[in-house]
Amino acid sequence: MLLTSGETLEERLLERGVSRRTFLNFCGVMAATLALPAAYRTQIAKALGSVRRPVLIWRQFQDCAGNSESILRSPHPDVAEVVLDTLAWNYHELIMAGAGEQAEAQSTQAVQTMKGKYIAVIEGAIPAAGDGYCTIGGRSAVDIAREVVGNAAATIAVGACAWDGGLVQYGPTVGQGVQDVVPGATVVNIGGCPHNSANTVAVLVYYLTFHELPALDQYNRPLFAYGDLIHDQCERRAYYDAGLYVEQWGDYGHRHGYCLYKMGCKGPSASYNCPNVRWNDGTSWPVQAGHNCIACASPNFWGNMSPFYERVPNVPGFGADTTAETVGLAVIGVTAAAMAAHAVGKNVQGRVGRHRDRAARREQDAEAGTVNGNTTPGPTTEPISQSAEPGGEAAARPAGEAPAPPVSDEPGSEGN
Ligand code: SF4
Repeated sequence: MLLTSGETLEERLLERGVSRRTFLNFCGVMAATLALPAAYRTQIAKALGSVRRPVLIWRQFQDCAGNSESILRSPHPDVAEVVLDTLAWNYHELIMAGAGEQAEAQSTQAVQTMKGKYIAVIEGAIPAAGDGYCTIGGRSAVDIAREVVGNAAATIAVGACAWDGGLVQYGPTVGQGVQDVVPGATVVNIGGCPHNSANTVAVLVYYLTFHELPALDQYNRPLFAYGDLIHDQCERRAYYDAGLYVEQWGDYGHRHGYCLYKMGCKGPSASYNCPNVRWNDGTSWPVQAGHNCIACASPNFWGNMSPFYERVPNVPGFGADTTAETVGLAVIGVTAAAMAAHAVGKNVQGRVGRHRDRAARREQDAEAGTVNGNTTPGPTTEPISQSAEPGGEAAARPAGEAPAPPVSDEPGSEGN
């Protein structure tokens, strides 16, 4: 599956029956995932088309292999698979034929010959309770992690366990994340349980295109994926604003897409692009499927966000004692007031579309230097935005900077 010597990705794609249009569409999806302007699509395509095979070493420690499963079932399989093929996967114990000391020797050889030039991906927690836990080929996980991560150009820690120890930190091995075991290493944390492979592929695409890592937040998570609250991207948000909540599983509200806040949804406290990239080739995500968000991409979510089915006690931005009921009533009072009870459901559905329309108009206005369609500033009728998170996650976010935009797009390239 790997590119043969001298073969470009573009040639490989044609060989696999993937058209240039399909490839460019994939690059457009990647640009959108990375929150880059559409003009970057061509730059990404050029970079990926001519890329030389960088080495990737994927190590697993205390894990369930869920993150490997996630990336091996990437969306856009034709293209993502080939993009992943451009990487020389020198070690991945789940899919490689070798095992034991022989396989370990291959990993060590790759580290020595490609020192400072390869990308490491770490899956699973690393035990801090002693060398007797999680040994591979006679070596401890800590020893292997220090060798692989310490000599990598960059490391991507996929999933909650590789980020901060995840659930394993509470067990007898006292699992730790990569950045705690190898302090000072260049690490990107792709939080989630498991990680969303769209984000990991996007980080790889960004790295192969711009030869640097994307902008990160204070947890070393890429801002393009963890820069916005789930609550602000959720399709059930209009129900939240209208004070319409699921009261118990299977009730009328649950069957009709009402807000899951009272069922313990942690969306108001969690940053992630889960509602946009979704899962299974963009088919759905937990809240759309009817389950509350458990904030699996938030720091130490097993401890900080459980019990998963109990309500968030206080909503940020509305005062310490504000609850879902009063928030709903307050926002209704500010925005709509006169909704007739029998029409609430219809109005709420309409508001979702209008909210998106207004957001699009705001972008156009910003580009044209106007506000709310006027050339002078005016009040907005948007629902109150909750942009802060408990613990200051959102408030402390550094501003992300996209790299310098490409000079021009390639005209007519789509039709090739
Ligand atoms: Fe969506 Fe949960 Fe926020 Fe309700 S509380 S709008 S279900 S993210």
